[in-house]
Amino acid sequence: MRDDTRRWIEADKAHCWHPFTPQQAWTDGEPLVLVRGEGAWLWDSEGRKYLDGNSSIWTNIHGHNHPALNAAITRQLGEVAHTSYLGFANPRASELAERLCGFFPAGTLERVFFSDDGSTAIECAMKMAIQYRQQTGEPERTGFIAFDQAYHGDTMGAASLGGVSRFHDRFRRHGVPVTFVSGMGALRHLPAEAVRSTAAVVIEPLIQGVNEMRPWPAGMLRELRAWCDAHDVHLMLDEVMTGFGRTGKMFACQHEEVIPDFLCLAKGLTGGYMPMAATLATAAVYDAFLGADDRAFYYGHSYTANPLGCAVALASLDVFEEERVLERLRPKIALMAELLDELRTTTPRVRAVRQCGFVAGIEVDGGGAQVCLAAREQGLLTRPIRDTIVLMPPLCTTEDELRLAIRAIAMAAG
Ligand code: PMP
Repeated sequence: MRDDTRRWIEADKAHCWHPFTPQQAWTDGEPLVLVRGEGAWLWDSEGRKYLDGNSSIWTNIHGHNHPALNAAITRQLGEVAHTSYLGFANPRASELAERLCGFFPAGTLERVFFSDDGSTAIECAMKMAIQYRQQTGEPERTGFIAFDQAYHGDTMGAASLGGVSRFHDRFRRHGVPVTFVSGMGALRHLPAEAVRSTAAVVIEPLIQGVNEMRPWPAGMLRELRAWCDAHDVHLMLDEVMTGFGRTGKMFACQHEEVIPDFLCLAKGLTGGYMPMAATLATAAVYDAFLGADDRAFYYGHSYTANPLGCAVALASLDVFEEERVLERLRPKIALMAELLDELRTTTPRVRAVRQCGFVAGIEVDGGGAQVCLAAREQGLLTRPIRDTIVLMPPLCTTEDELRLAIRAIAMAAG
């Protein structure tokens, strides 16, 4: 082991505290120190090369070290790195808000509230949903409906919407009251008084990520939109994971031509380069915040609309167009389906495979963590959710690289 590597690992084990990480196992293990990236590849401090099977943490949709994304940040650095968004506009934020709203028909999602990560995008939508009701004569509508096994982030509000018992139960009584349902059938059976006190329903459209990559039934999102309309409940879509091409379209809601009242975006927004999020809201929601000062939305963070983040987010949208990312993704999604099917039929330990766009969940018979560790030896970085291996490579991953990734899992699970 190189001296640098040893020094970094020692300092990490002595002082760092990692997210979603049992620290004892971490301290006993041999962590990789990631030092460099290029396209779908990452290098560790020992010079070993790995395919990035998780796009860092579902974030780096165009891979690593993309010249256009790098240039956008460098260019913005030459102007200014950060300015306050409280009381000031900034050019990149104006341009980005306009671009984001341009994905949706006029009169629908017309406003963008910037924040820092997926959790704050959700947090912000929750507060908007509550305050909207206060300002439209329905202050009793304070509740939220979420789906079993959902994951929407880890701040207290966002965690309240979470249905993963291991992560969320211990904080449940400290959070916002939420009604959980298993699906559309259960939603339709909720008592009328529960529905009348609901401000919004929140869902990860098309696929629940942290719930081991489980897709929803086709058509469900459209049914949910109709239910929300019929009951005057806002629809809040969490596209933190699915946004920016992951499902094969720019946004998952476009598969079912659904437009939500709130759309939460993060992760891929900046191509994974900078921590930044956006909560899009409809013109109708925004209008309820106009008028007297006390109708303002008193919410925000120091780094709201950070110019570096906005600049690289704009560059990421340009990459989608210039590199025809979605068009070139289509055959790769089809290839992923073929390879997953082959993996399932030829690897006895693979119990099930699930896919939505360029995301796969590969369920193995016990020992998900051990399979991921073995895959690492085969040159693939992935992370399990319980016994499901998550494969969510950058959208720029080539067909050959995709074959390598699946082969590594086959070897690791074989
Ligand atoms: N919503 C979904 C669907 C997510 O997958 C995540 C993160 N995995 C979040 C919200 C929270 O985002 P962040 O970690 O950026 O706060």
